[in-house]
Amino acid sequence: MKAVLDHIGIAIRDLPAVLAFYRDALGLEIELTEEVASQRVRAHFLQAGADKLELLEATAPDSPIAKFVEKRGPGLHHITFRVDDIHAALAELKARGVRLIDEQPRPGAEDALVAFIHPSSAQGVLVELKQPATRHQPPAAGRPSSDVVSGFSPASAVTRYWLGDLELISVCDGFFRLDGGSMFGVVPKTLWSPKVPSDDRNRIALAMRPLIVRGVRTMIIDAGMGDKENEKFHDIYGVDRSRHLDHALAEAGVAPEQIDIVLASHLHFDHAGGFTMRDASGRLRPRFPRARYVVRRGEWEDATHPNARNRASYLLDNYAPLAEAGVLQLVDEDQTIMPGVKVRRTGGHTPHHQIVVIESGGKTAAFVADLIPTTAHVPDAWVMGYDLNPLETMTAKQRFAKEAIEKDILVFFEHDPVVAAGYLKEVDGKRQVIPASSFKP
Ligand SMILES: [Zn+2]
Ligand SMILES: [Zn+2]
Repeated sequence: MKAVLDHIGIAIRDLPAVLAFYRDALGLEIELTEEVASQRVRAHFLQAGADKLELLEATAPDSPIAKFVEKRGPGLHHITFRVDDIHAALAELKARGVRLIDEQPRPGAEDALVAFIHPSSAQGVLVELKQPATRHQPPAAGRPSSDVVSGFSPASAVTRYWLGDLELISVCDGFFRLDGGSMFGVVPKTLWSPKVPSDDRNRIALAMRPLIVRGVRTMIIDAGMGDKENEKFHDIYGVDRSRHLDHALAEAGVAPEQIDIVLASHLHFDHAGGFTMRDASGRLRPRFPRARYVVRRGEWEDATHPNARNRASYLLDNYAPLAEAGVLQLVDEDQTIMPGVKVRRTGGHTPHHQIVVIESGGKTAAFVADLIPTTAHVPDAWVMGYDLNPLETMTAKQRFAKEAIEKDILVFFEHDPVVAAGYLKEVDGKRQVIPASSFKP
C-alpha cells in the first residue's frame, strides 16, 4: 500500500479569523465552499500545492464539528489519504492490529469509498482512507468534496425546505462585515462580543441569504449585494463573495430567467444590490430578465430621496434602473404577492421595512429580513443601531416572536453567518433558536 495525502481537515470556530491567517497571510485561496446539511457543517477547501486544506465550520450547535470544537477547541480534525484499493488496505491494516472505526468502506461523496481509522492507532489523529471513484486514475482535480464529515450524503451549497406545497430554498450571496457596535445598538460590547466574534476593525461577519419560493410561480425575496461595487467598498464592508448568488442559483437549479417575481424587504444595498447588474456594455439592467420587482411604495419613496442618515445604504443604481425598464410594481399595503406569500410592514429598521409571511399546508414560515437579522438579535433589546426607529423594531419583534413561538413558524435569518433558518422557542423565559436542518419530502 502506498497512501497519498489527499487533504487535511481542520475544525474552525471563526471563519474570518481563520481566513486572516490561511488566506491573507499564507496566500491560500478558498476554492470551494460546500454546505453539508446532514452534518450541519460548511466545508471550505483551500488549495495548498497538490493537497488541500478543508476548513470545517459548524452551522448548528448540534453539529459534530461544533461538539468537537466545544470539547477540544479548534484544531486538526482529520487527515485523509487516498489509496488504490480500500478493501485491501483495510484488510492489511486489520492484520497489523490497527484499530478501525469502519471495518468495511462506506460510500462517500462523488462515489468514492471511505473508511475511518481510530485515532488511537494513528498517534491521536483521526485518519480517513479514501478510494476515489475510478481506481488507478488520479483523483479528480479541482472539485474536492467534503467526504469526511459527511461521507455519506451529497453536499450542497443551498438549503431546501418544504412547506406544504411550496419549496423554500435558502441561497447565499456571500458574506460581508458591519461594525459590531452598530449591529447591536445599545447593547455594550462586553455583552455581545462573547456571542459574536469581531475582527481587528471591530466588524462582525454577516451573510446575505435571499430566499427562493417555488410554488405556482418562482419568487426570490431580496437578492444580496450583487457585483457592482468597487474595491474600496469591498474593503470597507469586508465583502467575501467568493461564492455568491450565481453559484447558489446554479446549485439550486434555478436559472435567473425562471424568476417571475423579485420581492424586496427594503432597498438597502445588502438586500437590493443584486436586483440590477451591468451588461457587457456597462449599462445597468434588471438582473432577472423576466421578473417583475415588487417594492413597497413608501420604501421606494425613501430610497429615491435619501438623506444624510440613510444615504450610505440607499444606492440608486440598485433600483432606479427597474423603474426605467418598466418592471417595477409598487404596493401600498400588506397583501398577498403570490399564493401563500404575504408581505407585512414592520417599520423600525426603515419606516416601510417589511417581512414576508409564507403559508402552505397549514404551516407557516417567515422571512424576517432586518427585523431579526441574525439569531443573536432574537432578544427584544438586541436591536441594530442602524434602525431608524428602534422602539418600533422592538414592538414588531415582540409581536412576531410571540406568534412564531405559538405557531411554530420556520424563521429565515437573512444575515446570520451560520444559521439559515430555525424555530423560536421559549425556555425558562428566554427566547432561543432551534436551527432547522433542511429536508426533502
Ligand atoms: Zn437594512
Ligand atoms: Zn440588512
